[in-house]
Amino acid sequence: MTESRKARRVLLVNPWIEDVSAYDYWLKPVGLLYISSILRDLGIEPILVDCLDRYDSDFLSSGGESQEKYFGTGKFHEVVISKPESMKHIPRKFKRFGIPEELLRRKLRSTGEVAGVFVTSMMTYWYNGAVDTIRVIREELPTARIVLGGIYATLLPDHAAANCGADFLCPGTGIAPIKKALECLGINAIPREDWFTALDPDYSHYTRLPYAVLLTSLGCPYRCTYCASGKLWKGFSKRDPVAIADSIENLTDREETEDVVFFDDAILFGDFKALLKELLKRKIVRRFHLPNGVHARLLDEEMAGLLYDNNFKTIKLGLETSDPSMQLSTGGKVTNEDFFKAAKNLANAGFTSREMSAYIMLNLPGQKVEDVERSLEMCGELGVYPSLNEFTPIPGTEQWKTLIEDGVFDEGIDPLLLDNSLLPHWWKKGMNASQVQALKEMEWKVRRSLDGK
Ligand code: SF4
Repeated sequence: MTESRKARRVLLVNPWIEDVSAYDYWLKPVGLLYISSILRDLGIEPILVDCLDRYDSDFLSSGGESQEKYFGTGKFHEVVISKPESMKHIPRKFKRFGIPEELLRRKLRSTGEVAGVFVTSMMTYWYNGAVDTIRVIREELPTARIVLGGIYATLLPDHAAANCGADFLCPGTGIAPIKKALECLGINAIPREDWFTALDPDYSHYTRLPYAVLLTSLGCPYRCTYCASGKLWKGFSKRDPVAIADSIENLTDREETEDVVFFDDAILFGDFKALLKELLKRKIVRRFHLPNGVHARLLDEEMAGLLYDNNFKTIKLGLETSDPSMQLSTGGKVTNEDFFKAAKNLANAGFTSREMSAYIMLNLPGQKVEDVERSLEMCGELGVYPSLNEFTPIPGTEQWKTLIEDGVFDEGIDPLLLDNSLLPHWWKKGMNASQVQALKEMEWKVRRSLDGK
């Protein structure tokens, strides 16, 4: 391969997840897919290896199973791996989720020469998956320069620099880290600043795409104490609804793409009603999903009707806590009244309990068991499916800083231990494992009672 051709090819890698549990709840590396479009726009050929693609053709043709559950979600292929030292005392198995290692190695070996490799990262407590993926890339492509970006690299840059094994770290969001990454690889190209409004995530890499994830906006106007949105995106920006409808129309040219999922942080603050009207006008018939906790305050009657008419199947309301003082002290995004009204609007529009659910935070510092119980009861009374969401202290958030100031853990803690599945096993700040278990059982009881109605 000539030097100039090599300089025009970049490998993009979505790494494995390593954790005690993981589920493909519509996980697509949207940031990496935008980078793919940005590279194409620059005349650079992107090659994607998505270790979390359950429908990877090589994986399926070598006997792998996609293990589908509902609406395109499903179980990842998994293998048990040895536990990191920090969690040796915790009675949980440690697993790697994603394509088998030998398949990843084969894919890397068949890549051909590239100018470099961009690896993304997601949750900070999944960093072991990124580290192991980079180790394998290094072994298979020893001369390639490797850049790590994404959420882990942004929220914990010092930890990532010390542990990830990449040649360069490009923390941050938006276009700046991409410019830096191209510079690190010695590629002389200037990516467009208007990437979010002008480009779509590049799904052309996937041979099979039962679901696609889209963003209509970036960031959130609120600053909740437990959330990293404000750390990742400084402002709030939105995309033109007609452009988004075009993007959905293009995606749904593919027959098999039955589910379209929006993962915005604050979708109702954008021009979402205009988008819903545009989708109706174009008669796009798909199942749509809002799994990322929408703002109840903005879910009025008209919005509920438009969601129903567009065949939305998953609407998660962000309740988090029913304690008014905690609602206020954590950011003031919702009140119980907002929640009642939103639930009523959705029910009146025709949504069933299973289709409208509410996130309830479990184990927020200072949260009482009674608060979670009351939230679960509220859901039962309103006919909303409860969805308990175990608290994770996310590095850089106000809540994380407070916990460090209070001496609950040290800044240098292994991020893996902050995983919500591991937290109740060691920390003394919140609820213990048996209290968490009892609340989960109550959640199931409420769900079963709603199923019976
Ligand atoms: S409203 Fe939601 S996305 Fe916005 S800061 Fe709060 S938790 Fe995060």
